[in-house]
Amino acid sequence: MKAEKILVIGWDGATFDLIDPLIKAGRMPNIAKLMERGMSGPLASTIPAVTPVAWTTYMTGVNPGKHGIFDAFVLDRKASAMRFVSASRRRVKPVWSILSDRGRAASAVNVPVTYPPDKVSGVCISGMFTPPAAEDFMHPPGLQEELTSRFGRYLDSPAMYPDPERYLESLLSGVDWRADLTIHLMERAPWEFFCSVFMESDRVQHFFWEFRDPAHPLYAKLHDAIEQVYVRLDAALGRILVHAGENAAVAMLSDHGAGPLKTAVFLNKWLIDEGYLTVKADLQELFTPRKSSALRQLAGKVARAVLPDSLRKARVKKKIEHINRMNDLFCQVVDWERSTAMSDGVSGGIFLNTDGLDAAGRAKLVAELKEKLLALTDPATGQKPFEAVYEREEIYFGEAVSDAPDLITVCSPGYGVIVPHEFLLYSQEYLDSVFVKHKWSGRHEKYGIFLLAGPGAKAGAKLTNMAMADVTPTLLYFLDEDIPDYMDGHVAVEGVEPETLRERPPKASAADMASNGAGEAYSEEDELEMAEGLKDLGYM
Ligand SMILES: [Zn+2]
Repeated sequence: MKAEKILVIGWDGATFDLIDPLIKAGRMPNIAKLMERGMSGPLASTIPAVTPVAWTTYMTGVNPGKHGIFDAFVLDRKASAMRFVSASRRRVKPVWSILSDRGRAASAVNVPVTYPPDKVSGVCISGMFTPPAAEDFMHPPGLQEELTSRFGRYLDSPAMYPDPERYLESLLSGVDWRADLTIHLMERAPWEFFCSVFMESDRVQHFFWEFRDPAHPLYAKLHDAIEQVYVRLDAALGRILVHAGENAAVAMLSDHGAGPLKTAVFLNKWLIDEGYLTVKADLQELFTPRKSSALRQLAGKVARAVLPDSLRKARVKKKIEHINRMNDLFCQVVDWERSTAMSDGVSGGIFLNTDGLDAAGRAKLVAELKEKLLALTDPATGQKPFEAVYEREEIYFGEAVSDAPDLITVCSPGYGVIVPHEFLLYSQEYLDSVFVKHKWSGRHEKYGIFLLAGPGAKAGAKLTNMAMADVTPTLLYFLDEDIPDYMDGHVAVEGVEPETLRERPPKASAADMASNGAGEAYSEEDELEMAEGLKDLGYM
């Protein structure tokens, strides 16, 4: 048996830790039915378990060492600047482009890091990391006017509000809005592969985890905010499934899981203290501490939420220019000649300066940093914040490996890393200590979700060993398509009916890995706009 078409629904950051109890309570009947009908299990994310890296491994079927996306930011050491990641850095074709090239009708809606949009046979709407001012984030051209007239201004995820109750409302209505949009696009033209991603699960987990604590003053009002979003996602799933059709397979995935976050480790502060990172000036003198009061921050957020678009843009532009200057200054104040290590991005990567070091010297530096980082202890809790530190060659392979940070740290439960830019924006408080309270209360965990139901899927099968790179080979198998031989992942055969597997074993075929060239990188204006969006989300 094979599927005529396949629907893929993504819930960013969704975890069975939250879904299983909701299924038991009867509050997520639609995903429960899919799990009964097909295979399901935890899905191991990439290292690091962050959105741009993991979704790109999903769509390409390869490890980051081949696709070249390692973080939300890219450090350009020559230009002394930080750049946002974009699909133009992706070195490998996404599954919807592979299928389009083979003459099948394929669409991708709101998948992170798909700007500029891929020129697929169906529709492609870029997801997170799309510049808010971009005009060209939908393919084919003309789709945007059509959708705007029907659904209003397109948002890759709901706008932030300073008031958590209002923000929760916008997340819940955002789920409904995206379900309507997804159904409209599914009905608009015939499709054989259709992928739509919802971001609300990730957002609610980052910002609402703290309300699960019975000691929190808003516990009574908001303790089940995350569950409310999951339940709404399940209802949306039920509505979408009505439009999937009889012979469709349905797959679901998330790019990582979620759990509580308490403490941030400021890696660059630690590197400075340990003598690995040297800055050219006294940061505390160079940058006026910008400890804005909670009231001022609130006023800024309110203004952003209620001002008309044009006024809002003018107002934030000045602020964003400041952030961008700070980012560039961060790169410029690092005295790279006199430094051996620095961290960048949101993912705990560390770049080494190995100029003048031979292989033995580099190995010694790597071993020393690993040992020290693994021994580091949080004085407040006695806990070790890092559970693993990898050299890039231990976890990545392929032609893009040299673009990766030299070391990748993995935080222990409850810990996260701080984006380095912060120490310029809020220099005083962050220069005081390696350990500070993180501004998010939820973090990413290693295991997301995967499930697939439909013709040939084994009912009730439990997957125990599924990783992000296995998703696309598995989807291609269910569409009876050859799997490109360069892919690192494998078909989830333990979830396939034995008879189907005998009739139709997975087939690999030689294929060209190169991306179809998504297009140009961001303009300076785009960078400013994106900085604003990411700042809202707390990435900066
Ligand atoms: Zn994510």
